[in-house]
Amino acid sequence: ESYQAAINENKKLNNEIQELKGNIRVYCRIRPFLPGQKEKKSIIDYIGENGELIVANPSKPGKESRRNFKFNKVYGPRATQAEVYGDIQQLVQSVLDGYNVCIFAYGQTGSGKTYTMSGPDKGSPEEWGVIYRALNDLFKISQSRSTYKYDVRVQMVEIYNEQHLMLILDLRTLGILATTQSSLAVPDANVRQVSDPADVLGLMEIGFKNRARRSTSMNERSSRSHSVVTIHVHGTDLKDGASLNAGLHLVDLAGCERVDPTDVVADRLKEAQHINKSLAALGDVIFSLSAKSVHVPFRNSKLTQVLQTSLGGQAKTLMLVQLNPEVPCYSESLSTLKFAERVSGVELGPARSCK
Ligand code: ADP
Repeated sequence: ESYQAAINENKKLNNEIQELKGNIRVYCRIRPFLPGQKEKKSIIDYIGENGELIVANPSKPGKESRRNFKFNKVYGPRATQAEVYGDIQQLVQSVLDGYNVCIFAYGQTGSGKTYTMSGPDKGSPEEWGVIYRALNDLFKISQSRSTYKYDVRVQMVEIYNEQHLMLILDLRTLGILATTQSSLAVPDANVRQVSDPADVLGLMEIGFKNRARRSTSMNERSSRSHSVVTIHVHGTDLKDGASLNAGLHLVDLAGCERVDPTDVVADRLKEAQHINKSLAALGDVIFSLSAKSVHVPFRNSKLTQVLQTSLGGQAKTLMLVQLNPEVPCYSESLSTLKFAERVSGVELGPARSCK
């Protein structure tokens, strides 16, 4: 029996070492065709069980038009929210052990970023996205651990045209602590009492509804802002009084599509420039971390400033790449995949507990 225990312990250690490798993990999710869509031709040619993905342009048949990619995981259009979260859950829970974690959704507008992170509007619990599931999990687990006392706070930041909008929630007293606003209005942002995670999420909806939305040719629900939900955890070990601080950043990035400058009005162009600038800054930070540069340009955008504590050698990072399978999106999808491919080659050094 003790032999088996030793083997199990060894296996656990090995898994932990794997877990600690610190590479940016990249999961790719392909959204389904939407009800009522006529064209059902897809750019997805093959999805392997070990993260292989082949895309092809059906309007240009031939071997050269097929492109191979390899990520940590690839989810086909039938993957459920529970399945995706199941692969992220451990990462989320590790925040309670003192790790800083960043999970961000990247892709063009309409590719399913908000669906994955938040779920559809008025969705059933099965359709809840990563943010809801993570909050629920952290809430439950932090309350059930008898040897630790946790203080959990939730903060929501919208970054729009390089400006902040902030909503701070305190889960201990279950009320909004403060709101600060720069350029966007928060109606109804008075302190409110809530009694469980669902209520907290209801409050967060207020923030979500305030996201700067514009109709674009791609998708009416598109959002031109980055949304960052941060769950701060402060834990105290009741046995020895040791404490830990950690944070989970859950990021729904603005759409990464290229914008034709001749085709948009001035304020849309300004938005697009800000979005491109911050996504480029995110890429620069990731690539300079991978190159182990002495200077990491965190301060080049609001987005990278906000994410600073959860990107880098001490943190665990997961990029959720979203793809739209429709043929007209082929070239955007290809540039999304090329960015993701570069990111997945990145090694950020070992992640360590901040305990
Ligand atoms: P984005 O945030 O990238 O702009 P959305 O999350 O708004 O994209 O998704 C665009 C549309 O596709 C929405 O109507 C959304 O409900 C739907 N959708 C996205 N992913 C899925 C999915 N996995 N299953 C069902 N519908 C999805």
